[in-house]
Amino acid sequence: MLEAALERMNRAAGHCNIPEEVLLRLHSPAEVTMASLPVRRDDGRLQIFRAWRCRYNDTRGPGKGGIRFHPEVSQDEVATLAFWMTLKCAVVDLPFGGAKGGVAVDVSDLSTMELERLSRAYVRAFAHTLGDRRDIPAPDMYTNGRVIAWMSDELRILNGEHVPAAITGKPEAVGGSAGRIEATGRGAAQVLAALAKDIGVPPEGARVAVQGFGNAAYHLAAALRDQGHRIVAVSDSGGGLYDPDGIDPDEVRAHKARTGAVAGAPTFGTARDIDNAGLLTCDCDLLVPAATGGQITCDNAADIQARAILEVANGPVDPAADADLHDTGVIVVPDILANAGGVVVSHLEWVQNLGGERWPLDRVREQLDATMCREARAVQELAAEMEIDLRQAAYVHALRRIGAVAEARGMEQ
Ligand code: GLU
Repeated sequence: MLEAALERMNRAAGHCNIPEEVLLRLHSPAEVTMASLPVRRDDGRLQIFRAWRCRYNDTRGPGKGGIRFHPEVSQDEVATLAFWMTLKCAVVDLPFGGAKGGVAVDVSDLSTMELERLSRAYVRAFAHTLGDRRDIPAPDMYTNGRVIAWMSDELRILNGEHVPAAITGKPEAVGGSAGRIEATGRGAAQVLAALAKDIGVPPEGARVAVQGFGNAAYHLAAALRDQGHRIVAVSDSGGGLYDPDGIDPDEVRAHKARTGAVAGAPTFGTARDIDNAGLLTCDCDLLVPAATGGQITCDNAADIQARAILEVANGPVDPAADADLHDTGVIVVPDILANAGGVVVSHLEWVQNLGGERWPLDRVREQLDATMCREARAVQELAAEMEIDLRQAAYVHALRRIGAVAEARGMEQ
């Protein structure tokens, strides 16, 4: 996975003068730590979970990136996600490098108390690599504010003092920022608004299909509805629905809270069931993969009907499918730009924690919106000027910023 991800970077590097040695460093993670987490199950058994933390690169600042709980998490995936965080933080000009963590676990197998023991065990295993000036975790797939609150509390116990800035995505009651939960979805909607004209998506009234219905997907769908777009398809891991007359994300959210699934939610017209594969190739103007990676591949890329893809998940398009999408003229707004809103507000949380401040929601939103809009325009202008696609332009934009650090310092780092 990492090899394929690096290929994209190598292609982009051909378009900018990044120093060879900077590129060389970006070819492998600075540090990967693996641990076996012993967790006592409620029935008294001890179970071991494999876990990782990868600090990929800290040229621009401390490592930054979420922790993923998923049965298929592997070291390769964690390193790849940490590599993408390195580029993502540079695209939106945060003073961070890139990192990521993961635990191979199916959270639906665990009770709440088991989940708490696992979360605390993660911090005990990796505490020596974490810190507000070193490596700062946050939520990712199947981790949320509650998990982060346990982790933050465990760090406090281990350090013997409060270290709120050492982990972000905390609930507001324990030092989290207003606006963090909505940030990824809101940020992606801001990027779309900034680029709509350039990518051939109408500024309002576009028909949008959203794959996934987690935190980022729901907030994105709600923000796009508020911008005047029409959500025509949604799904979760159990299936989905398609309704050309439109779907209200709030109705779907209420239905999912009641029944545990998206399927069967009320819509504005007559909905038909759709599976995740069908959603990707349904009739729509904008496709938003907002679930997991590797969804669009050489097998289905040619069947995509959308004019543009907004990558809210990390790595939803397999690098091997880039050329197919290019050939059929589908424009891709890349993940390292489109989904950076989460880490942008994580940075604002870190700043508030270090300064002992609490900012109102309006202030956070204003800064998030300004950052997303500014960087989306910068990437678009680079793409137009260099006649490259938006993904290449986002990579060039990030690489230039990483390269500038090396130049400012001289090559010895
Ligand atoms: N997990 C999120 C991402 O992939 C957020 C990371 C963070 O806030 O540090 O961007």
